[in-house]
Amino acid sequence: MLTVEEALEKILDEVEPLEAESVAILDTLGQVLAEDIRSDINVPPLDNSAMDGYAVIAADTRNAGEKTPKYLKIIDTVMAGSISRKKVVQGTAIRIMTGAPIPKGADSVVQFEHTDEGKTKDNTRVGILEEIQSGRNVRKAGEDIRRGTTILKKGTIIRASEIGLIASLGCSKARVIRRPVVAVLSTGNELMKLESPLPEGKIYDSNLYSIAALVKRYGCIPKVLGIARDDEKELVAGLKEAQDTDMLLTTGGVSMGDYDMVKDVLARDGKMVFWQVKVKPGKPLAFGKIKGRDKQGGEKSIPHLGLPGNTVSCMVSFELFVRPALLKMMGKTNYTKPAVTAIMEETAKNDAGRRLYNRAIIEKRDGHYYARMTGSQSSGVLSSMSLANGLVLIPEGKTINKGGTVQALMLDWNEEVNI
Ligand code: AMP
Ligand code: MG
Repeated sequence: MLTVEEALEKILDEVEPLEAESVAILDTLGQVLAEDIRSDINVPPLDNSAMDGYAVIAADTRNAGEKTPKYLKIIDTVMAGSISRKKVVQGTAIRIMTGAPIPKGADSVVQFEHTDEGKTKDNTRVGILEEIQSGRNVRKAGEDIRRGTTILKKGTIIRASEIGLIASLGCSKARVIRRPVVAVLSTGNELMKLESPLPEGKIYDSNLYSIAALVKRYGCIPKVLGIARDDEKELVAGLKEAQDTDMLLTTGGVSMGDYDMVKDVLARDGKMVFWQVKVKPGKPLAFGKIKGRDKQGGEKSIPHLGLPGNTVSCMVSFELFVRPALLKMMGKTNYTKPAVTAIMEETAKNDAGRRLYNRAIIEKRDGHYYARMTGSQSSGVLSSMSLANGLVLIPEGKTINKGGTVQALMLDWNEEVNI
């Protein structure tokens, strides 16, 4: 049976980054830039004021102070977005608002707080109460972005600041690696659609939703296929519907039971790469490739992860195996799940013969992370997954005593990007 690392390597070997497309910048959050972005303009385009105040010649403020005001004649007012037609000459000043271009002749700005603005009735002149240096409160043209420079490199993960940067160049679109479309199919005769009556012996299909939600959480697009009975024909029909997607995720039907036929169909109609991983929860994971079609109707193969049916197992398998595969398809290169070293608040024993990922609450106190389990670790108890914010790794054959340390994967932490 494969270890977690071996299984992950096999999966990553079979997936490649998808192609690039041009997308409205607001829709690119979390995607990977597929080209360098160069600027043809300076940002800001002109020298401009960092303060509301008076544009002056610094030399005119020599020896100015609270008790020794230097009076300058006010010759104009200029606001952001306008250009003053006047020129500041010795003995004059122009009222200027933040962001307005520095008028000709001026070399600095005295902020209102250091003038007698508002304290006198005379609005033909202003008393300067502070001596300033040339260049004071002036933001230089190109201070943020210099024309001709590469401001974002191919491979950068787009966050709010990158979207803002691209917008500041006047561009409304960016070329990014497209988001994978992921088909999600539940299997099981016991499953009922939501909002339908619940006959005896049946349960509602929750995996379809938790798995589709994880697909969304990592920035991909779920194609929700619904439920297939434990019936070959229905499974094959489901596989067909996944043909135009980038990945198929099924849940259930990969264990040892009489009706667990997902892996058989996968082996017969596609290519089986492996079945079973030394991990708990999540042992019966199946991985392979099925036939698909690209947009031009050409043949391609689509990775198929047959996730276990138990509600917690499929989610943990997703975090361990599907997540890195999707990140790779999105053009990302760091697949490490954010993790901390945590101190156990109770003893955890692993005699399962495979690595354990226990659901836990990770809490920071006095500069240390502490981990306590969220109750039942049974692989069908989804409520204990809901209580957890982390998964604690207990190595095979090890007992971690209370006070010992473990690695805890943080389920809800954002991935580290652009470091
Ligand atoms: P299986 O791997 O198909 O034998 O399923 C294992 C367990 O998970 C069984 O108890 C199933 O009833 C349960 N299960 C499978 N699929 C789902 C689902 N979509 N929603 C909720 N529970 C499920
Ligand atoms: Mg089943």
